[in-house]
Amino acid sequence: MPSNAGPAQDDKHAAPPLPAPLAVPVADSHTHLDMQSGTVEEGLAKAASVGVTTVVQVGCDLAGSRWAAETAAAHDGVHAAVALHPNEAPRIVHGDPDGWSRQGARVAGGDAALDDALAEIDRLAALAQVKGVGETGLDYFRTGPEGKEAQERSFRAHIEIAKRHGKALVIHDRDAHADVLRVLKEEGAPERTVFHCYSGDADMAEICAREGYYMSFAGNVTFKNAQNLRDALAVAPAELILVETDAPFLTPAPYRGRPNAPYLIPVTVRAMAAVRGTDEDTLATALAANTARAFGY
Ligand SMILES: [Zn+2]
Ligand SMILES: [Zn+2]
Repeated sequence: MPSNAGPAQDDKHAAPPLPAPLAVPVADSHTHLDMQSGTVEEGLAKAASVGVTTVVQVGCDLAGSRWAAETAAAHDGVHAAVALHPNEAPRIVHGDPDGWSRQGARVAGGDAALDDALAEIDRLAALAQVKGVGETGLDYFRTGPEGKEAQERSFRAHIEIAKRHGKALVIHDRDAHADVLRVLKEEGAPERTVFHCYSGDADMAEICAREGYYMSFAGNVTFKNAQNLRDALAVAPAELILVETDAPFLTPAPYRGRPNAPYLIPVTVRAMAAVRGTDEDTLATALAANTARAFGY
């Protein structure tokens, strides 16, 4: 379905309208173009028209990671991150038909299948246009106790891959703060580590700040019930803050529930500027510099 063919704007499923452009261009530090409607070119052009000139395209499984690398090679404004998502690793070991990519079903493959998949991620991580290894980490919300072992083994392997290739590590942490921080400590975090869709509170933000971890805020920082995220954003050091869409998920208010895409980054940037009591251009300047430094482009 073309993204511009939606029904009227008051339809709660329609794409939200274009926000006013940012004067200072920024990057969407984490997006999934392969899960959004319309072509890549349309999505990038729409984003660039409001000052979102760079995106980090994140792979969640092998097919998605290969696609991220190909897409980054084909477009100047796109960088890639490659990984097996924390919910993907247990699926590879135990099997689950509900995969991430459009390629569909897979069969249970045991530990050897996970090793094979990690070897392919390792190969992709060596490519110049691949700037990050992730999203990896721990997700105790979607994966039950039976998947914990595979998830942690995969997380540790991704940390090692990121360090060996000198790439940024992109962390997915859902309901697993303490264990994510523990594993990072045990393995030794890469020089550049990004908590994507930062979901901790202000206390955890102080820990991240001490460790030099980047905190990337998504549209949920605008949600009414997310005061803990705004408290974290308020205390996070200016040089460690990033912004992302995680599109098609987490559409910022007032468009919650409608399809998200990189062109909506200005909505989140403005909400973040209000939380930090800073002006939009100052924040955008910092966000642009931080994302380039975090991903090394
Ligand atoms: Zn995630
Ligand atoms: Zn994501």
